Amino acid sequence: MIGAALGRDEVATAGPRVAVSGVLRGWEGAERTGVNASYVRSVLRAGGVPLILPPLLGATRAAAALEACDALVLTGGEDVDPGLYGEGPAPLLGTVDRERDLFEMALFAAAQQREIPVLGICRGIQLINVALGGTLWQDLPSQRQCLVDHEPRAPRERRTHRVDVTPGSRVAQLLGAERLEVNSIHHQAIKDLAPGLVASGWAEDGLVESVESGAGRSWLVAVQWHPEEMHADAAAPERGLFSSLVDAASERALAHSPR
Ligand code: MN
Repeated sequence: MIGAALGRDEVATAGPRVAVSGVLRGWEGAERTGVNASYVRSVLRAGGVPLILPPLLGATRAAAALEACDALVLTGGEDVDPGLYGEGPAPLLGTVDRERDLFEMALFAAAQQREIPVLGICRGIQLINVALGGTLWQDLPSQRQCLVDHEPRAPRERRTHRVDVTPGSRVAQLLGAERLEVNSIHHQAIKDLAPGLVASGWAEDGLVESVESGAGRSWLVAVQWHPEEMHADAAAPERGLFSSLVDAASERALAHSPR
């Protein structure tokens, strides 16, 4: 831990290091690893130093890789394997990647153990819920009566449905709002909320759209929508999610760095 810690001046000038969970995909004829640039841009804009951690690291190296970081962003992507919450696959379950699931669960466990701040986005809120013992809707359109279209064919940054947030919740404080329109690019969502998580935001159809840690626990916020896609909008309330994550990471890094 001491070897991985930045000096106080480095944290202050360069910003804290924020792990961003990556993907493994084939494109342009090659197998590649990376992550949507919007996550990286959002962390940069908030003053953090983003480090992409590829799922190729595997669960066994997750904690070692995270050791270099002061915060964790769990990103969007594949469906979470329903076997991880004791269900078989529903007919309209999408692509799953068990290796990525296990890698990110190991990242999350290490982050919780070290009490570093965690921001979960889309698949990230789902993975956190499953890691803590909750369950998911495997496919909203075929499993749940939704009055809201959670996967409209729209540009990724298009705000398409409303979210109401509990007044005074951490998410309300970070957004500076108790009601906002959000983008929505998901067909899975939280079904049974995990013990230890507090739901703080809901779509108009009652679907959970944000969760957070309870009082006295380390910084944890997760949202079902895609705040990273708002990186180009200086007035977007979502900026508060990333800036607060980076602030929490700085505080923690400074508290643990050698004087
Ligand atoms: Mn939604």
